[in-house]
Amino acid sequence: MDTMTTMATMTKKPVSIMWESTIACGLLCKHCKASAKNKPDPDELTPEEGRALIDQVASFKRPYPILRITGGNALMRGDIFDLIGYAKDTGLNVTIAPSTTPLLNRKNIVKLKDAGTDVVAMSIDGPDAGTHDSFRGVPGTFDRLVKATRIMNEIGLPFRLLTTVTKFNVKKLPEIMMLSRELGAVGWYMYMLIPTGRAREEYGIGVEEYEDVFNFIYDLMKFAPITVNAIAGSEPYRRVAVVRKLVEDGKVDANVLKHGPLYHILKSKLDRFLEDIPETQGLAPASNTPGTPAASTASTLKDGVFGKGIFVSNTGEVFPSSFLPLRLGDVRTDTLKNIYAKSRVLKDMQDTARLRGRCGICEFNDICRGSRSRAYAVTGDYLEEDPYCTYLPGTVGKITGTDNISILKQLKVTNFSRRAS
Ligand code: SF4
Repeated sequence: MDTMTTMATMTKKPVSIMWESTIACGLLCKHCKASAKNKPDPDELTPEEGRALIDQVASFKRPYPILRITGGNALMRGDIFDLIGYAKDTGLNVTIAPSTTPLLNRKNIVKLKDAGTDVVAMSIDGPDAGTHDSFRGVPGTFDRLVKATRIMNEIGLPFRLLTTVTKFNVKKLPEIMMLSRELGAVGWYMYMLIPTGRAREEYGIGVEEYEDVFNFIYDLMKFAPITVNAIAGSEPYRRVAVVRKLVEDGKVDANVLKHGPLYHILKSKLDRFLEDIPETQGLAPASNTPGTPAASTASTLKDGVFGKGIFVSNTGEVFPSSFLPLRLGDVRTDTLKNIYAKSRVLKDMQDTARLRGRCGICEFNDICRGSRSRAYAVTGDYLEEDPYCTYLPGTVGKITGTDNISILKQLKVTNFSRRAS
């Protein structure tokens, strides 16, 4: 058994469990992975089954996986506040990602806080109403988002903002970052578009542009004007971060870096914005309320194993992630613990020896492994090489005396996040 397989076998529980509590939603987002509808699925987990699922999350024992409640619009579940309260009484850390519809009003925001929600996650897909609303499919969504952030700031409910990077907003990422900071988000998270649900491949950015975005994220994390996290679809970011550090330390020649036109656009905007941040504010985040999952992701790094979340659908089916439609089991007929422990797919995904193509021979596959969801979405094989990574294995090569995981730790990239300091 190779080292990575051994570590995978030792991995006894997921870092987080994402629960798609309902697929009912009032928005029509272009990238919706759930292909949400305006009514709940009649077969969605009942209130009792929702509580049983929470018990199953707690059965992993402390430190518990984080419970991330998503949708659809979780606020369209009549029992959502009871479920959050139950999860909190059980001792779980709970985040919820509601849609910004009229249901995200003051009354419900206060109820989310009173129920014990640790962090609210909301989507921001543009720095202005035009960009955001055209993506979300409903006019007024941007204004509603801004209003919700004001209420959350007022009552002390931490929130983070999430952006799906697409061709529609990629050049505006620096503006979205600045707006997220101004609105008082505890963090700004970026997803790369994975073509599932309503998200079409042509909405995404070009292959070379991913490299530019990852290099921009490295600059952003270095200067940390806000806590940043690059999540789903950003796996090759870890390779970019390590290579940038090796170049900075003079261990690798700078000509291995690829900086295309998009990078220069993003970097020059970022430089301009950094100049505009008053010195009195330094580069600390606008709000520094605790609540990001850094502690759990740090433990992920300790194991040397990444991406250990799993996804439970509104009807109780279990998948490796919301973007990877490979059914692992069903919480109605089995336990999450069993499903997680026995899944061949999860073991394969953590075993670098099983990866194919460039990912199989890459000197960075111990920290990256590519996006398995993107490989599956584009090729139909979750072990294939990540088709949106441009790296040619061997270009950098193994550097004597360097350890990729140690470099990520040094950079404080915890499960590819870096907290503002
Ligand atoms: S080739 Fe695969 S493992 Fe290597 S950096 Fe690209 S996505 Fe990651």
